Amino acid sequence: MRMERASQRISQVARVVTDPSVAAGYCTDFTGRWRGSTPLVALPGDTAEVAEVMRICAEEGVPVVPQGGNTGLVGGGVPMGGEVVLSLRRLTGLGPVDVAAQQVTAGAGVVLSALQRHVRAAGLDFGVDFAARDAATVGGMIATNAGGERVLRYGTTRANVVGVEAVLADGSVVSRLGGLAKDNTGFELPFTGSEGTLGVVTAARLRLVPLLERRATALLGLPGVPAALEALAVLRSLDSLEMAEFFQPEGLRLVRGHTGLPSPTREEHAVYLLVECAAPRDPAPELHAVLESLHASEVVVAADAADRHRLWRYREAHTEAINARGVPVKLDVALPLGELPGFLDDLPSLVGGCELYLFGHLAEGNLHINLIGGQDPTDAVLRRVALSGGSISAEHGVGRAKTPWLHLSRSPAELAAFRAVKQALDPRHLLNPGVLVP
Ligand SMILES: Cc1cc2nc3c(=O)[nH]c(=O)nc-3n(C[C@H](O)[C@H](O)[C@H](O)COP(=O)(O)OP(=O)(O)OC[C@H]3O[C@@H](n4cnc5c(N)ncnc54)[C@H](O)[C@@H]3O)c2cc1C
Repeated sequence: MRMERASQRISQVARVVTDPSVAAGYCTDFTGRWRGSTPLVALPGDTAEVAEVMRICAEEGVPVVPQGGNTGLVGGGVPMGGEVVLSLRRLTGLGPVDVAAQQVTAGAGVVLSALQRHVRAAGLDFGVDFAARDAATVGGMIATNAGGERVLRYGTTRANVVGVEAVLADGSVVSRLGGLAKDNTGFELPFTGSEGTLGVVTAARLRLVPLLERRATALLGLPGVPAALEALAVLRSLDSLEMAEFFQPEGLRLVRGHTGLPSPTREEHAVYLLVECAAPRDPAPELHAVLESLHASEVVVAADAADRHRLWRYREAHTEAINARGVPVKLDVALPLGELPGFLDDLPSLVGGCELYLFGHLAEGNLHINLIGGQDPTDAVLRRVALSGGSISAEHGVGRAKTPWLHLSRSPAELAAFRAVKQALDPRHLLNPGVLVP
């Protein structure tokens, strides 16, 4: 009854979708693992409409799942309890690029690749980048504190946000879009990394970085992870180092089968390390000099931009190739670099009979462990990660998928603080119930 009344009221203040065949697209995640349902998708066109929708939901006591591009990988944006979906996709406003301050204001629904095009036209760039760039939104990236391929140089999304505008659970609006680099008038409200549980992000003031168009890319074939870590330690001496991504032969074979690409190297290697440098001046000479000093089994250097994108495809196509193979269990963990070799030695026995596809962001010790078939070994793997002082979620967030294991990475005092913040900002648990906050 309350849901019906809320739906009627929401449809008077915002565009909505109620046709189940259209709404279905908002109810299943990218992997197909999470399949929910909703009576209504609200598609407000501006912050005032978002506030109205939230006010109605608060008055009717109706739970809400905020959603951006629906590329999240932990089930956090899927209505698993029949909640209203609040899609921010229509908030696509982009302000002028402030070149002097190196900032821009973007609506929550702006897709990462659109943001990149906008700021690159002004000679600047956004420091966060990853393969879902054509669908992931600014709001979703902030809500998950997305990481990606350039973290070693520019940090995660958190480091690239100056301020956020958000609608709280009661429909009130808080806004920090002024762009002041210095403003110590109290603490930051913790929207970054809150996964839609504390407020609905409607816009953000983003920090920009110089656009570095001179790039040099190479793919290294190495005998194992210890060798990749040794190579990384040397490569880090380069100021221009921007990315250091790794994958393994099993994933490469899957990618090749999925894309039809030929082998990138003459021989197969235990580990592939894809590195890229970017600088105002051509970084190729310094990268090549360092590559010569490494003991890589094989090195392939990109000849031009098209070649660079070809090499990147081997790494970036992993997620879609794995999805095409089956519905994966996706674990996204981080370990101290020194713990990686031991953990990887133990991994095959922990995952039992599952097919294992491993890739990730080496500089952060961030492993994407993808498992298909067999018994779900999540518990054993995450406990082993915690034993080595790692994180059970490096960059995808906790969502619904990892909530039962959050205590492995967060202390009882931290979890109590999480609950207190949630209680203060959303006392009736209307925002994303069941996500992140245990
Ligand atoms: C091919 C592929 C590659 C990926 N690579 C990476 C990677 O390298 N690094 C990485 O970190 N992630 C990666 N991801 C995961 C995903 O793209 C990111 O988590 C992304 O930030 C999600 O953005 P989205 O707009 O799709 O959010 P959604 O999936 O719609 O939502 C994700 C979470 O954020 C909340 N949310 C969304 N919008 C808002 C908002 N406006 N206000 C409040 N809460 C909101 C949702 O409720 C949900 O909990 C990848 C995903 C895919 C499919």
